[in-house]
Amino acid sequence: MRNLIACGVLWVTIWMGAFACSAQEAPSLLIAGGAVVDGSGRPGRLADVRIAGDTIRAVGRLKPLDGERVIDAHGLTIAPGFIDTHSHADGGLLEMPDAETQIRQGITTSIVGQDGGSHFPLADWFTQLEKQHVALNIASFVGHGVIRRQALGAEYKHAATPEELQKMRALVEQEMKSGGLGLSSGLEYDPGFYSTTEELIACAQVASKFGGIYISHVRDEGNDALKSFTELIRIAEEGRLPAQISHIKLDTQPVWGKAGEALQLMADARRRHVDISGDVYPYLYWQSTIMVLIPSRDWDNRAIWEKGLADVGGPEHILLSTYSPDPSWQGKTIAEIAAQTGKDAISVIQQIVHTAHDPGKTASESVVVTAMTDRDLDAFIADPHIMFCSDGGLRGSHPRGAGTFPRILGVYVRERHVLTLEQAIHKMTDLAARRMGFHDRGRIAPGMKADVVVFDAATVHDTATTANPQSPPIGIPYVLINGVPVIDNGELTHQHPGAVLRRIGSLNHPLKP
Ligand SMILES: [Zn+2]
Repeated sequence: MRNLIACGVLWVTIWMGAFACSAQEAPSLLIAGGAVVDGSGRPGRLADVRIAGDTIRAVGRLKPLDGERVIDAHGLTIAPGFIDTHSHADGGLLEMPDAETQIRQGITTSIVGQDGGSHFPLADWFTQLEKQHVALNIASFVGHGVIRRQALGAEYKHAATPEELQKMRALVEQEMKSGGLGLSSGLEYDPGFYSTTEELIACAQVASKFGGIYISHVRDEGNDALKSFTELIRIAEEGRLPAQISHIKLDTQPVWGKAGEALQLMADARRRHVDISGDVYPYLYWQSTIMVLIPSRDWDNRAIWEKGLADVGGPEHILLSTYSPDPSWQGKTIAEIAAQTGKDAISVIQQIVHTAHDPGKTASESVVVTAMTDRDLDAFIADPHIMFCSDGGLRGSHPRGAGTFPRILGVYVRERHVLTLEQAIHKMTDLAARRMGFHDRGRIAPGMKADVVVFDAATVHDTATTANPQSPPIGIPYVLINGVPVIDNGELTHQHPGAVLRRIGSLNHPLKP
């Protein structure tokens, strides 16, 4: 009898719940009359898209329902929200939950925890994001550098001992259990710089156990780039997991023109069933610390600096974008600072390195270095296994942080025909979603989460430059995340519908050779 009463109560609760739910369900929204480029790579077609709650309900010729909001998309393209596979939007996200530079580009999901740096522990940060709410969907890698610092402490400038490695592996396991997508590393930076390939393999094996992938800012993006890609392939092979080369580039003169060789290395690996992919940003200049100009870190050796400068085309190719000890130097090239101060370029660089990086110094510096070639960049942008990343932060000083995705659509699709609109959208959405293990994003199709971008393929363009790096793009009037407009008729809505995307199950969806 008690069971029966309990059952009755339960049934009533469910029924009431259902009633309350349908009564409160947000009215649906119709995006009408646009060309749907659905993310699959298939040609676009004219269709309407109905969204209810956080989900796409229908795609086709649809009549508006009573009381339904209609967004007129005639002449516009409707695409899945863009997925940024290497983002630094995690820096300051809780303070800037609108993430305006990202969402204005059409980015709806940012993959953070890159270059070996992630929030730690991930579980706490995820909980905080869900409590405070942010505009973007967020997924994170487990940063190898963060784990390394946890296990080795301040004295990290050595290869990990077996005991330290045990600690690192346990921490990778803990973070993977919290929903990390895999292991990220930044091997040009401290403390990843000091790790051996064997250490990375041992950590990657733990990520592999949970179906994770390995993603890396490789050891050298210049003279030894091909050697670095080979190291990544070995980590994937012996770690038994897929791997992705972050912001792939060839940024010194000796390796210019070798994109074909790099892509061949990756293709050969895939033929051996080692699943390798990459991501790229559409700029000929990179931004990082001035330290990466000479991977040997031999700061006082003028001959090595001489070569380092020649490799990137000279001091006029190096723009000092951040320099806290003397902000008047910011925005000038090393050649200009040298002329202004009467010093030679190498002395200027040595002064910057020592002021910012000698023990006990905390000054910040960053440089924007023009050192890639159009030919290599075009080859990476066109490759079917390479997706797109902004590598940008919320308030970055490289224009990639505000311009990457519209720049692909404006310059590389419309103006230069390096790839078709459908190919570009596929790489921005479905390809990235499958790589990162999101089964319900990256397509415009019924049942998928309603991350949607509406843009004008005839005008979409980036406007960010090194002088004005956060300048918003044009031609993207609507961006919806989980069914909620975050950009509405060009206006920021200050809505924060983003979800934390934890790894679910196995990510291992091998790409085709
Ligand atoms: Zn990086």
